[in-house]
Formats: sequence, structure tokens, C-alpha cells
Amino acid sequence: MVTEDAQRHVIENGAVAIQGDRIIEVGPRATIDAKYGATNRAINRLDQPTAILAPGLINTHTHAAMSLFRGVADDLKLQDWLEKYIFPAEAKNVDREFVRWGTRLGLLEMALSGTTAFADMYYFEETVAEETKNAGMRGVLGQTVIGFPAPDYKTPEAALAGAEKFIRAYADDPLIVPAVAPHAIYTTSDETLQAARTLADRYGKPLIIHLAETKAEFDEAVQKRKKSPTRALSDLGVLQGWTLAAHAVWLDPADFGLLRAAGTGISHCPSSNMKLASGVAPVLKMLQAGIPVGLGTDGVAGSNNDVDMFEEMDLAAKLQKVTLGDPTALPADQAFAMATIMGAQALGMSKEIGSLEAGKRADIISIRLDAPNAAPLYNVYSQLVYSLKASDVGEVMVNGRIIVRNRKMLTIDDKAVMAKAEEYRAKVAKSLSGN
Ligand SMILES: [Zn+2]
Repeated sequence: MVTEDAQRHVIENGAVAIQGDRIIEVGPRATIDAKYGATNRAINRLDQPTAILAPGLINTHTHAAMSLFRGVADDLKLQDWLEKYIFPAEAKNVDREFVRWGTRLGLLEMALSGTTAFADMYYFEETVAEETKNAGMRGVLGQTVIGFPAPDYKTPEAALAGAEKFIRAYADDPLIVPAVAPHAIYTTSDETLQAARTLADRYGKPLIIHLAETKAEFDEAVQKRKKSPTRALSDLGVLQGWTLAAHAVWLDPADFGLLRAAGTGISHCPSSNMKLASGVAPVLKMLQAGIPVGLGTDGVAGSNNDVDMFEEMDLAAKLQKVTLGDPTALPADQAFAMATIMGAQALGMSKEIGSLEAGKRADIISIRLDAPNAAPLYNVYSQLVYSLKASDVGEVMVNGRIIVRNRKMLTIDDKAVMAKAEEYRAKVAKSLSGN
């Protein structure tokens, strides 16, 4: 069992005792059995003798509903990809039902690959929340606010009002943390960005944003404002408060101190940054500066084509090594921490999730060790990051409830989702055929 507690305890033949939605004790199986197991026949047991028990993986940046656009357009420049494919495809296809089915597909893929919590930003976010809650998953869900007419709201003012309504509806939910998500500095006016900050603070909820993703974004800010995107957002007061920012690829030396001082959590998305050739985020420098950095997949419509956190761990470690010319950079144990406890820190939720410790929510996964790629096992972190696969995940528990058992999702009708995905493929392809 890998705990990811402060001492990074790894317990051989470990066990977790759970009551309701929380972990009550973690320790050697003999101890836990003696205390809770043998005497209580009413107890619910889940025995996995040949598996690793670990905290659920945390995907700190995605757009779950975009699952229905998987592979719609690949290997393009970001601007072409957005303007010729994604924006038209969204304008013609994205409505509430699209978001519902796309989210279901995303949730199914995430849960089966060991993700228990995810941060999302998209449209019709109340529908994302409804589906997430129905599936029994945990989500930090941001209603998008953007400076042009969107599928759900036609103006930023309407989007902000919608975000407020959404935040109020989910203010005290055990699984959903509602958030406001201004898209980025280059798509949203300064006034709207500041209004989003005010809204988040009024309800004590997070603000989610894309930050310094591309060189173009960085250069535009320098040209128009004579400062980096991070400095510009900081000067506007947008980063001050509970904030989760995705990417942070293009940072000035002074930006590290700004992010650290603001307490901004960063989502590092290696697949997306590589596929869109955005650049390489200075992950080690951010960590050295004391900035919490988690891992994210980004959306699957072209910036990544899946929501597999096992791949992100592996790529995060290797991307730093090859970039820095240093095979010791970002070792496996650190990459695994980024997918769990550090992801929880980036979300501002490390008191509740991210590790197996008494008092935390019971978000736990089992990773089977019966496949050839799992044997032999010398080092558990090496195995988790470099050789185990999403398909090795056996069981998934979120908030004390088992939602995946024996590699089968219990809370979503997978056949219906797959059939709908095919229906939407035909519809989306048709809508783009004029391009
Ligand atoms: Zn994104």
C-alpha cells in the first residue's frame, strides 16, 4: 500500500479501515484486521492480495465533455486546430445533451483508469456536476466564462450570472466543488477576469484558468501590456485567492515568486504541451519555488486523446529528463506524488484528499499486479509510473463508495455511452464536412 502521507509510508500487506465516507485507520493488515475485521461480521471487506492500494489519481485539468471530439482533428497548429475545427465543431454541436453524454464518456474513462477526482472547465457545467455526482466521482468543476458567445451563455455577464447560480446550487456538496473558470487572459476581458475573482471569493470557491500555455500568449501579453501573462493576471488581482491555473509553460523568472506568493496551484499537462508543441513547463523550478504542481490530461479533442493519468505520470517524468538532459530529474516517486497528494495541494484540497490517512475522504484505488508488465516488482513507484497501465486498475472507491469493481464501472451504463459516442461521431463528422 502506497499512502502518500507526509513521510511517504509504503506499507507491505497494508489495509485501510473505512467508515462512511472517511478513512479511519491505515496500517498493517494484521493490525487493522485485529481491530476492525475479525470480530465484526457485518463488516464490508474488499480483499486484494495481489494489488497495490493507492490514493485515487487526481486529474487537475480536463474538459470531460470534449471526449466526444476525441481524434476529430490532430497534428495541427493550435490556431488552425481551434479556428478550423474545435470552435466550429463546438458551435454546431455542443448543447446540454452533448455535454451530458460527453461527460459520461469522460467519467467512464477516468474512473476505469483510476482517477477519483478531476478539475474540469467547460460549458453547461451544472450538467457536468449532475453527471459527476450521479457517477459518484469527485469534481472541481468550473463554469467557463469567455469573451465571445459560447454554447451556453452568449455574453460574459450572462456566464458570470450562470456561474453564480451554479456555485450556489453546489455550495455544500460532498463530491462537487463548484468554481468559476474564466478561459484565459487572451479570450476574456480584464473586467470579466476581475469579476470572476470577486465571484469566487464571495463564495469561497476556486477560480480556474488557462495560464501562459503558449509562446504566442506570452508574446501578446508582453507586446500589449509590457508584462508576462502571469504578472498581468497578478497585477489585476486575479491570481490572489483560491486559484488553479493550467499549463504555466511560459514564465518569467519573477513569475515564480508571484505564483508562490499568491498560492496558485498549477496543473502540468505534459501530453497536451507536447502534442500542441506548446513547450516544456519548468516543473522542477516551480517545485523548488514551493508552488504546488499537479498533473492533468487536458481535453481529449486534440491536445491529448485520452484522460489516462498513468500516461501523464510517465510522460511528466520523461519530459523533464529529456529536456534537462538529466535522467535523475523528476523521479518516479515525485511523479506519483504529483498525480496524488501534490495534485490535491494544487486543487487546494489536500486536507480532504490525495493520500491514505486517517481522517481523509476514502478515495482509493487498487492496481492489479497480475499482468506481465507488473512482474517482478522491485520498487513500487517505478512500477506505478513506468510499467503499470490504466488497464491494470481493478477497483475504484470515491468517498467511501465503490464505483468500479473488477474493472467494471458500476454507476454508468457503459453500453449506452458507447452507442451514443458513435451517434455523436456521425453527427460531428457531418457538421464538419463543409470544411
Ligand atoms: Zn485546457
